[in-house]
Amino acid sequence: MDPKLIDGLRAIVGPAGLLADDVRRKPYESDALAYLKRIPELVVLPRDTRQCAAVMELCARHRVPVVARGAGTGLSGGATPVEGGIVLGLARMRDVLAIDPERRIARVQAGVVNSDLSIATAKHGLFYAPDPSSQKACTLGGNVAENSGGPHCFRHGSTTRHVEGLVIVTARGDVLDLSRPRADPLGLDLVGLFVGSEGLFGIATELTLRLLPIPPVTETLLAIYTSLEAACQAVTQVIAEGLEPSALEIIDKLTIEAVEASVLAAGYPQDAEAVLLVEVEGSEAEVASQTRALEPILRAFGAFELRRARDEAERARLWAGRKGAFGAMGRIAPDLYVIDAVVPRTKLAALVRATTAICRERRLKLANVFHAGDGNLHPNISYDRRDQDELARVIDAGHAILRTCIEHGGALSGEHGIGLEKLEAMEWLFTQDDLAAMCRVKEAWDPEGRMNPGKLIPVHTCMETRSALPSGGRA
Ligand SMILES: Cc1cc2nc3c(=O)[nH]c(=O)nc-3n(C[C@H](O)[C@H](O)[C@H](O)COP(=O)(O)OP(=O)(O)OC[C@H]3O[C@@H](n4cnc5c(N)ncnc54)[C@H](O)[C@@H]3O)c2cc1C
Repeated sequence: MDPKLIDGLRAIVGPAGLLADDVRRKPYESDALAYLKRIPELVVLPRDTRQCAAVMELCARHRVPVVARGAGTGLSGGATPVEGGIVLGLARMRDVLAIDPERRIARVQAGVVNSDLSIATAKHGLFYAPDPSSQKACTLGGNVAENSGGPHCFRHGSTTRHVEGLVIVTARGDVLDLSRPRADPLGLDLVGLFVGSEGLFGIATELTLRLLPIPPVTETLLAIYTSLEAACQAVTQVIAEGLEPSALEIIDKLTIEAVEASVLAAGYPQDAEAVLLVEVEGSEAEVASQTRALEPILRAFGAFELRRARDEAERARLWAGRKGAFGAMGRIAPDLYVIDAVVPRTKLAALVRATTAICRERRLKLANVFHAGDGNLHPNISYDRRDQDELARVIDAGHAILRTCIEHGGALSGEHGIGLEKLEAMEWLFTQDDLAAMCRVKEAWDPEGRMNPGKLIPVHTCMETRSALPSGGRA
């Protein structure tokens, strides 16, 4: 890497904000999709929008690719470094800049950890609703880039519903302030366009996020089943009846065993094939009537026991088990491939059946823990990436599961994004015209293609789009 660029970056972020030696760059070689890795040329850690803009402007002058990174908990290789590029980490941008309880919004730097925001706003009786299971580690900027979901997004909607404004640093280092209060914004919804763009458009440095009042009453139920498919059918029926619990999460037997053997033991029954964690929130009357309506449906599909969390401590334990489940699976094998599969909610049971068969055929160990209410399955395959044959079977199973989702009317990602992991699959779902339109949007934000190149949109599609233009793609 050009020494002038390295010196220039050091001058902007200071010596502590530039990681150039092998040992300190190594932790940035992958996100949580650990089988894809590359050590970055440099890691740069700015402290604010101004430093971010200066870094981007310098990288533009040197034509260096940039990969944004929050906490690196992504599961699709979005923050995996690219050839000849730097990683721009947001980890030192952790300030909650303002909380406005009257307008129910907060302004934060992009590197604030998701759960820290609700901790900061609790004294105002407010919380930030999107709650990825990784919320104690992942950043709000990463959530915006992935349009993340979480157990309670069933009721409250995924990240995009909660973003009011953004400050974005563009590939050329310009600052685009889309955070001014606008009651009825005119023009194109650039904020909406940016959410879910997986680091391909620019760097989100400051976020204005919507807060919700903490519900007065919350009831947490655990329905216990002798069959995973029955639990899925119960979820389909709850939705068909128009009920609106805040969360509907399924945990299968292998996951229960892993959680119960770990420090996160939540008291899930080990003789169950699956449990369904259901939460209802609202006023006392709302919670009582929703719970009354839910109980017979949960039982009709064979729940042989229905437990209620007796107090806040038990509720917290039930959720800690669910949210820590991926970590607990470290007991089964050294690596975990978390597949993000999404289908219409009427197809949950069919997809569970197909997924089980796909993994059985490939001699793979499958566990399921997922956002059932969103139709968002996480078939989790435990494996050892040092075993190349097993790794090949894991990747093949992932592809087969995605193709099955598409056949069932589903999509490629419920929440983890496309990144590098599902790049190839984009052509299974989208036509060349769809992909060409995506390339043109990407080029409007990032004409030189330096922002997280090679992710999300298949590169050759962009090249074909460019050469098909009358100018051959020249501006
Ligand atoms: C145990 C575990 C549980 C999980 N549970 C969930 C879940 O329930 N729901 C869910 O949706 N996801 C979940 N995830 C996936 C992951 O946590 C989310 O995708 C999260 O939003 C990533 O945030 P991050 O800060 O780690 O981003 P990173 O992994 O660092 O980056 C993710 C992507 O965002 C881009 N990016 C990061 N910050 C910015 C920025 N400021 N501006 C522009 N682009 C940026 C990166 O370039 C990359 O493409 C889970 C992951 C793990 C490991």
